[in-house]
Amino acid sequence: MCSLLQIAPTIAKMFAIPLSSDAEPLNEVLQLQNQNQIQIQNQNQNKNNSDFRVVLIVIDSFDCNIFRSFASDFPEINALVDRGILLPCDTVSTHTTPAIASILTGLPPESHGITTENDVGKSNIDSILEIIDAYGFKTAAILEEKGAEPLKNRISLVFPVRDREDIMSYDSEVARDVISALSDGAVMIFAHLRTIDRFAHRAYDMHVAARFTDAIVGHIVRAIRTTDAETILIMCGDHEAHTQNETPDEEARVPLIAVPLNTQLSSAAISISDKLMENHD
Ligand SMILES: [Zn+2]
Repeated sequence: MCSLLQIAPTIAKMFAIPLSSDAEPLNEVLQLQNQNQIQIQNQNQNKNNSDFRVVLIVIDSFDCNIFRSFASDFPEINALVDRGILLPCDTVSTHTTPAIASILTGLPPESHGITTENDVGKSNIDSILEIIDAYGFKTAAILEEKGAEPLKNRISLVFPVRDREDIMSYDSEVARDVISALSDGAVMIFAHLRTIDRFAHRAYDMHVAARFTDAIVGHIVRAIRTTDAETILIMCGDHEAHTQNETPDEEARVPLIAVPLNTQLSSAAISISDKLMENHD
């Protein structure tokens, strides 16, 4: 079973940089890169690191139950799963701030110590974004102002997004900022989408939240496809959805989806996906 703690070690391995984490990189995701690098080397022996990019999108409260229950509202994301892999992942927290800190450090909450918004920026532990940027890769983060503040002057591009009542407008701004980061040449981009979480908390129509989030993802994917860089897109939830009548389940799982873009799609990647689906249905 995979865990959200494995995302940062996987990204570190993709950029061939060291990261202190007890979690193992996800071989299934690394294989998407390795296969494609071999293909690209065959086409172009001069390929260098700047032509490779990772885009990590954390979709707040996107859990396996929501993905399954609203499957028909996620056509774009399902099309990505068909071309990549889907791994159900163990979560590390029922709350956003510690979960995202774990996704970005590869450390459990008790190790990174970031449990509330007030702890953000006080931790001495660098995130994968800061580490990658320190190795000379242009890194971008798109997230709510309070979370973005401590990253200023620590990574190349920080896009603080002002919190607001109209959460779909918020996520639209996130998508625009991702596209700006692509134009600015960022090779590691982290973004956080919040519509599903807000709708779950308020007991609004989850079909609307699912379709909207799916469209935002589709918009970002099309923008990535207008660029040349070989891209691994990684998407995941951060914790189980907080619905009004249910208490969060510590054992909950969230989907992790990884897909190669701007590369020749390999049939091997699709067969991995089929196998995982069989095992986890
Ligand atoms: Zn959350």
